[in-house]
Amino acid sequence: MDRKINVTIYNENFHETNDLEVAKIYPQGIHGAIKSIIENDAEFGTIRTCTLPDHAQVLTLETLEDTDVLVWWGHMKHREIGDELVEIIARRVLDGMGVIFLHSSHASKLFKKLLGTSGSLRWREAGEKGRLWNLMPNHPITEGIPETFTVPHDETYGELFGIPTPHDLIFLTWWQGGEVFRSGCTWIRGEGKLFYLQSGHETFPIYYQKEIRTIIYNAIKWACPVTRNIIRQRRPNVPALEKYELEDHDFYVFSEHKK
Ligand code: ZN
Repeated sequence: MDRKINVTIYNENFHETNDLEVAKIYPQGIHGAIKSIIENDAEFGTIRTCTLPDHAQVLTLETLEDTDVLVWWGHMKHREIGDELVEIIARRVLDGMGVIFLHSSHASKLFKKLLGTSGSLRWREAGEKGRLWNLMPNHPITEGIPETFTVPHDETYGELFGIPTPHDLIFLTWWQGGEVFRSGCTWIRGEGKLFYLQSGHETFPIYYQKEIRTIIYNAIKWACPVTRNIIRQRRPNVPALEKYELEDHDFYVFSEHKK
């Protein structure tokens, strides 16, 4: 791609500012850890981050129209994102902007709006080991990812996951406690590409793990639209592509048939 990929990262940043243990793991916030995956990389252009307190100032239409891929991490404060903003972001997704949903963002307004389902799941905070299985080794998101790898400690998410059948089911996680979970899924909505990754409970340093960083890096590149603002560039009121004339012959055949 000729142009650089512009990324906007939203992280509510609530745990990092309200829980010392989480703050120790993510001194720059989860958004800082995500940003460090793509910064100083020649393929990426403008990288913006925002948190709950400043999200409304950052996530303007202007920013969104300049964003190729939006990354979303939320947990406790989904309801504090305004419905109107969610509507604007969803429209941008239909217009081609990619979205990466991380971990507890399965319950965000944006996730549920775009997928039209509950996003509900079983969960348990037990610091269990999760083993992710790579179901699509030829997918751009799994480039450099082995057949299977382990996240030593994470929040357990189990089926049944309230999602529509994924376009691509990329990862399936086996948990120490016995559950399984569709932990890496893609969907297409309008022209926009969506990817959900389960990994990333805030009390564990999961966004520093090599495989997880590779998946997020790959997913952002995969979700980037070929053309920014695809639908907006195809607004109506364009002249016909070619001049054409109706040929009498077509009608002649039809009327003959009627006789
Ligand atoms: Zn969690």
